[in-house]
Amino acid sequence: MAGSQYEQVLARLREASEILKLDPGIYKILAEPERTLETSLPVVMDDGRIEVFQGYRCQHSTARGPAKGGVRFALDVCLDEVKALASWMTWKCAVVGIPYGGAKGGVCVDPTKLSKNELMRLTKRYAYAIAPIIGPEKDIPAPDMGTNAEIMGWFMDSYSAVVGTLSPGVVTGKPISLGGSLGRREATGRGVMVTTRELLSVLGVSPQGMTCAVQGFGNVGSVAAEIAHGMGMKVVAVSDISGGLYNPAGLDIPAIVKHAAEHTVIAGYSAPGVTAISNAELLELDVELLIPAALQSQIVESNADRIKAKYIVEGANGPTSAEADKILEKKGIICVPDILANAGGVTGSYFEWVQNLQNFYWTETEVNTRLDNIMAKAFHEVWDFSKKLNLSLRTGAYMLAINKVSEAIRMRGIYP
Ligand code: NAD
Repeated sequence: MAGSQYEQVLARLREASEILKLDPGIYKILAEPERTLETSLPVVMDDGRIEVFQGYRCQHSTARGPAKGGVRFALDVCLDEVKALASWMTWKCAVVGIPYGGAKGGVCVDPTKLSKNELMRLTKRYAYAIAPIIGPEKDIPAPDMGTNAEIMGWFMDSYSAVVGTLSPGVVTGKPISLGGSLGRREATGRGVMVTTRELLSVLGVSPQGMTCAVQGFGNVGSVAAEIAHGMGMKVVAVSDISGGLYNPAGLDIPAIVKHAAEHTVIAGYSAPGVTAISNAELLELDVELLIPAALQSQIVESNADRIKAKYIVEGANGPTSAEADKILEKKGIICVPDILANAGGVTGSYFEWVQNLQNFYWTETEVNTRLDNIMAKAFHEVWDFSKKLNLSLRTGAYMLAINKVSEAIRMRGIYP
């Protein structure tokens, strides 16, 4: 059993590299991040005490372009997790062919325990601490779990103060009023459903009436569930940290979205035919499509054998372990991997950055059309490549990504 999250990433990298017969020297480069920064962040709390938080920024690769990846504020943030997430970003950007490398950052903190002013001071100190290694042409952070558009606005302000010039392109996922992009918030969930649509089209299966379960009802899960509902699927179960809702006849997703917007969680929603279901039960439901869109490590060795879905489309990062992959493959379950399925988020971020650099802003329709084109093209590249070599979509996606990154390393030549 592979242990840490970074070990999970390495397991996938190793498997794909072996099939590719990758140069061992290039493998050694890809197996370690280019740069990691660990920093202690002193913050004066509202009561006058000084607290010190641990912050991180890891740049896994800049071979194909500036590093790109979110900032997570959570208590389990650690170097191992940041390294794993940074590496995933490298593969994700390569799979969809956007000109970025991979990075990730975070602060070990429970943001819900801080006042708004404390959170702002922590964010500004973090931006100041990592400012020497980031920038619109070096490394562009974005929101991730525990961070949001408001925090990105504070971050951009702090970086702009350090460099002495307004610099909206240093970070994406900003409020629209500060240069954020229309359609960015929905981009990940939308991308999940573009890959789902394309998967069903190559299989010749209609989405009409297809049963679907979605784990997680945040930015990714709620948008994916809404689009699935709009495509005519029967979304029979959804869940979040407060628990799950189940109705074999199909849930009224727009009504649950409205409830979640008013109450922050789905708990408390009721309607005829709706019963409670646990997160673990949701994963094992007899549905055709399962969309894990909450946390990592949800489908693992101990429950993989009980998964009944025919198709899994990974909205979350790392929801399936390397061991579970093998079990799912044996059962014939088709899994659209995270580095492809949820790459709509970073693609939306790329659009925001392009608009910031050009100071020229697009309509939401333009954003959505470009997103659809990129995600659909990436899906077919991965599908065709994997089918030709009789590989899982995950291994195929990794191989395509590794090929693109190693080609860039070779073409640039090793410095000096
Ligand atoms: P979010 O914070 O908006 O939502 C997370 C959801 O998961 C919430 O509904 C929360 O209640 C639920 N959740 C938390 N703990 C849970 C638990 N123990 N059991 C069940 N549900 C639980 O986050 P998000 O942006 O929707 O991200 C979800 C996943 O998608 C993460 O893995 C994230 O890394 C990944 N992802 C997000 C984006 C993006 O653009 N937001 C892009 C790529 C990947």
